[in-house]
Amino acid sequence: MEVRSPFSRRQFVGGVAAAVGALSLRPEADLLAQGQTAQFTGGDAEYDAYIKLASNENNYGPPPSVMKAMNDAWKYANRYGYPDGNVNQVIAEHHGVKRENILLTAGSGEGLNVMATTYLKPGQKVLGVSPSYASVFQQAANVKADSIQIPLTKDYRQNISQMIEVTNRYARDIGFVYMCNPNNPTGAVVTAKEIKDLLDNIPKDMPVLIDEAYHHFVDDPAYGTAIPYVLEGRPVVIARTFSKIAALAAMRIGYSVAPPEMIRDMRVYASNSVNVLAKWGAVASLKDKAAEADVKAKIIDMRNKTSQVLESYGYPVIPSQTNFFMVSLGDRQVQGVIEEFRKMGILVGRPFPPMLNHLRVSVGTADDMEKFMAAFKKIFPQKTATATRG
Ligand code: PLP
Repeated sequence: MEVRSPFSRRQFVGGVAAAVGALSLRPEADLLAQGQTAQFTGGDAEYDAYIKLASNENNYGPPPSVMKAMNDAWKYANRYGYPDGNVNQVIAEHHGVKRENILLTAGSGEGLNVMATTYLKPGQKVLGVSPSYASVFQQAANVKADSIQIPLTKDYRQNISQMIEVTNRYARDIGFVYMCNPNNPTGAVVTAKEIKDLLDNIPKDMPVLIDEAYHHFVDDPAYGTAIPYVLEGRPVVIARTFSKIAALAAMRIGYSVAPPEMIRDMRVYASNSVNVLAKWGAVASLKDKAAEADVKAKIIDMRNKTSQVLESYGYPVIPSQTNFFMVSLGDRQVQGVIEEFRKMGILVGRPFPPMLNHLRVSVGTADDMEKFMAAFKKIFPQKTATATRG
């Protein structure tokens, strides 16, 4: 299929090539950049010494309730069949859905891969935006499918009307639509109304994957989870993770919520490899609402404070609803800047073409962000303050 108007084929292919190209540019320590668990190849002392603001992790770590639950689960380490805290049931109840609506995965990244494997035949396309979380596009290439990546709008939002138009125009060639909400790397949300517009105006049987990895950080009242559409029986899959708000990235646990027939189709390709500690940790995490609220408040407060300091220092920040933000570097390219931060012991986000003058920074602890700002001020001169924050 030749995809042309409203974007040239070159633009689409360029999006994929750029995303893949960025892989070879990233520093070794930029973990999880494409949905795979990248390994840090240095020693553990070197790793521990870095301030880690590169992979949107939760630098506070799991709360005591979750640590205790995981520690108590060691006694099952030698078993195959063991009590798992009823993790599927607990997740289902958390969302008011049934167990058959849930597919437990080794991180939500596995769910994204399984979606692509299940719904993309060779030669078909996944439709999404660029820049976004590119692991679905990568997996599309792995299964000999392709992607159509629509550029963000000028204010860094997902272009819903173009997504609708292109999905309808090429519906026969599109296996599913991918939407990251809020989007990584910009931190911008797609509103509940926009999601409804999208779902109401594309073919009724078009599968739509909505990646809500950063759901828990959102405060914008215009945003809403798309899980109610699953209950309506629409072909919608929601991906959720315990890697971000719950601080369990290395434990590898997440899940998809979807209509039972979609879960059945996807289950065929899932690894069923979530470990016992992760299951008990996830259950404890869903129960400890106070810990979740506490870490959310700390991270948002730190994000807003750091953004304000950057803006008054003269560097505009894209308003974010997540545990990361993008700061504009003016005419500086991000690649060299990443290396300068690394030399000062700080890992920051990789390049996200075509936004090569923006740096993505994950929000860490107060101490992390103080060190980040000190390094930023060494790298960048003060400029006239901007007034772009809304
Ligand atoms: N989706 C988004 C938008 C992400 O940013 C990430 C990780 O950074 C993932 C999914 C995958 O996370 P995990 O596999 O750890 O759940």
